[in-house]
Amino acid sequence: MKQSNERKLPDQLLPVRRALWVALTYLLVGFAWIGFSDSLFESWFQDPETLARLQTWKGAFFILVTGLVLFVVILRQLYRDRALLRLQFAQRQALRARERQLTVLMDNLPGMAYRCRYDSQWTMLFVSDGCIDLTGYEPAALVNNRQLSFADLMDHAANERLQREVKAALDRGEPFSVEYSLIRKGGDEIWVWERGRGVVDDDGETVLEGIVLDISDRKALENELAELATRDSLTGLLNRREVSRLLEEELERARRYHRTMALLWIDFDHFKEVNDTCGHAAGDSVLKAVSALLLDSVRTVDSVGRFGGEEFVIVLPEMEVVEARETAERLRRQVASMPHPLGDGNTVPLTISIGVAVYPSHGLTAADLCAAADKAMYRAKEQGRNCVSMAELSEHVHNGA
Ligand code: GH3
Ligand code: MG
Ligand code: MG
Repeated sequence: MKQSNERKLPDQLLPVRRALWVALTYLLVGFAWIGFSDSLFESWFQDPETLARLQTWKGAFFILVTGLVLFVVILRQLYRDRALLRLQFAQRQALRARERQLTVLMDNLPGMAYRCRYDSQWTMLFVSDGCIDLTGYEPAALVNNRQLSFADLMDHAANERLQREVKAALDRGEPFSVEYSLIRKGGDEIWVWERGRGVVDDDGETVLEGIVLDISDRKALENELAELATRDSLTGLLNRREVSRLLEEELERARRYHRTMALLWIDFDHFKEVNDTCGHAAGDSVLKAVSALLLDSVRTVDSVGRFGGEEFVIVLPEMEVVEARETAERLRRQVASMPHPLGDGNTVPLTISIGVAVYPSHGLTAADLCAAADKAMYRAKEQGRNCVSMAELSEHVHNGA
C-alpha cells in the first residue's frame, strides 16, 4: 500500500568538491613539474641560451600534455553528457506516452478517477473530466471542496458506511471496493462502484487514489431481476414464495404488536370448464383479468399472490374476523358481478370460493392459518361454490390459550 518516497539526488556540493580536486591536482602536478624540471635542467645544462630554449620547449611540452589530458577529459564528459541526454530523452518520451495512455484511459472511463484526502469530506485533490458526466459538477467545483465536497453528494448513512469500509480496508492494508448511491447535480440519484487504495504521499500523509464508476444500469437490472424473482410471470402478482415470506413477516408483526391479520384463500369455481370450452389461452386471459380485479379491490397494504393454478392468497394486515369476512364477500360479489374477457373479444362469467382465516382466532402459525383458510375454502365449495366460508376456531382458542 505504501509508496516509497522518491530517492533524493546525491549531495549537491559533490560537483564543486570534484572540480576543486581536479584543479588542485592540476596545480600540484604543474608546480611540481615546473620545480622538478627547472632544477633538473639547471643541473644538466649550464649554458643560459640552451637553457632558455629548453625552457620554451618544456613549456610547449607541458601545454601539449595538459591540452591532451584536457581533450580526453572533456571528450569523456561530453560522451557521458550525451548518453545522459539520450536517456533523459527516452525517459521523457516514455513518460509522455504513459501520460497519453492515462489520459485516453481516464477520458474513456465510464466514471471518474480521483485522488483525495483521507478525511470526513473526502476532499478531492484531483478528479478527472469524467466527473462532469458522473456527478454533473465540473472538477474545479469539487477540488479542495471549492463549491461542495464529495461527501455532500451522498447521504449521511452512505458516507458513514463508506468511511467504515475504507477504514477497514486501510487497516488491513488492502484496496477497497464499495457500492453506494450519489446525488447528482439536479437531484438525480445514481449508483456507483468505487475502487481505491491508500497511498502515502511525499509529505507522509495518507491520501486515497481510485476510480468511481456509474453502475446505475447494473443496479436497475439487479432490481428488475429481484423483482422478477418475486413475481408470477402470468399475472404479475406476487408468487407463492414471496407471498409466503410476506405472510411470515406480517404474522411476526401481528405477534409483536398484538394485532390481528387475515388470510383469504381463493379458488376459481369450475375453472376447468373455462379451459375446456374456451381454450387454455382464454383461461390465461381470465386469470389475468381476475388477478387485476383482485389487486384493484384491496388496500395498498394488502398483498395479493398467486399460490398456484387458479388459487390465490390475500394477506390482510390488521384485520379482524368481521372485517375480513366483509372484504371476502365484497371480492366474491365483485368477481361474480362482471363478465371476464377471454382475450378474443368474448367474455365469460366466473365465480370464486373464498376461505377466510384470521390470526390469532384460527391459527397462530403461517402453516396453521393456511391450512385453516384452505379447509374453509373447501367448505365454501361444498356449500355450493360462489360463497365465503370462515375457518373454524382453532384448538388453542377453544382451550382459551
Ligand atoms: P372447482 O370449482 O372444484 O375448483 O373446479 P375447477 O375446475 O376449478 O377445479 P380445480 O380447481 O381443481 O382445477 C383448476 C383448473 O385450473 C385446472 C387447470 O385446467 C386450470 N389451470 C390451472 N393453472 C392454469 C393456468 O395457468 N392457466 C390456465 N388457463 N388454466 C389453469
Ligand atoms: Mg377451481
Ligand atoms: Mg384449484
